[in-house]
Amino acid sequence: MIPLEQIDAAIKGQPSYRKAQIYRALFTNTCSSWREATDLPADLRAQLTQSAPLAIDSRFFESEDERSIKALTRLADGNYTETVLMRAGSRNTVCVSTQVGCAMGCVFCASGQNGFTRNLTFEEIVGQVLLFARKLKAEDRVVTNVVFMGIGEPLLNYDNLIAAIRFMNRKDTLDLGVRRFSISTSGISRGIKKLAVEDSLAVNLAISLHSAINEKRAKLMPVDQRTRTGLLAANLKEYFAKTKRKIMIEYVLLEMNTGREDALALRDFINEMGAAYVVNLIPLNENDGSNHKSPDRRDLYDFKELLTELKINHVQRHSFGTDIAAACGQLAGRTDASPARTRNAR
Ligand code: SF4
Repeated sequence: MIPLEQIDAAIKGQPSYRKAQIYRALFTNTCSSWREATDLPADLRAQLTQSAPLAIDSRFFESEDERSIKALTRLADGNYTETVLMRAGSRNTVCVSTQVGCAMGCVFCASGQNGFTRNLTFEEIVGQVLLFARKLKAEDRVVTNVVFMGIGEPLLNYDNLIAAIRFMNRKDTLDLGVRRFSISTSGISRGIKKLAVEDSLAVNLAISLHSAINEKRAKLMPVDQRTRTGLLAANLKEYFAKTKRKIMIEYVLLEMNTGREDALALRDFINEMGAAYVVNLIPLNENDGSNHKSPDRRDLYDFKELLTELKINHVQRHSFGTDIAAACGQLAGRTDASPARTRNAR
């Protein structure tokens, strides 16, 4: 989505300051057409227009409350990806996808229901953030945070993920500090270990736990049955020891994981992990194919009371963009993913 290689080819033999001018046009001024890059000579703009077009083929859907915008983007090979902008006060967070489809098959998530197609490239990952940087620029706002919580398991596309973060962290691109990035993983052990020792990359890490009881977790996240919660707790302990970043524990609220034994198992997991943490309680978003149910109000109240009693640090997350199928677990990369209540925000 960002034609970096084509740009490099086009400026071969040009003065050395040319690249800085182009990066300023792309990332500071967020130009979406070379015509806007008036610093550049006209012949170079014409050449770049031909060889390195900046247009990103996206449709936007805005939620009724205007706090979320989902982008459905057609990639060069005809596949689609989805990206969501969430606005809360001065924070503008872009939720980015890292794969086309997902192999993990979590039962409560629409993203994995059609299986895995391919990894997104580094340029396709950065392009999703740039897309919303352009949109926000029109409102005199900027992207403040990036979360890798869209379609796909980020740690299974490790090299492109890390390359994208390092690129967006650069002063001459989007200049986003490492603490502005959060990676959400279903618990890829080797990926967490690798991430813990990345040089100067103490990003926030979220773990999709959903149950601290091995048998229940294996039912919810069937592909990764080998990752026992004991191993996960050890990986997270190591990540915290190396980075000092608070671990976010993602916990989707279901009828089957909000009983007393679930709260006790969660407490034991947290004790074993021995790290600063917060448990994010996520309301289930019903999607086609999921036969899981949310707990009823009374059970949910009891579960939260028990968490408080057990001194488990928890917050109930607001669900963004439910009406545009943009909330957690709803992204599917479908071209028909524009439910009736949405309006096209383009
Ligand atoms: S929750 Fe994440 S890891 Fe699981 S299927 Fe959905 S996108 Fe994949």
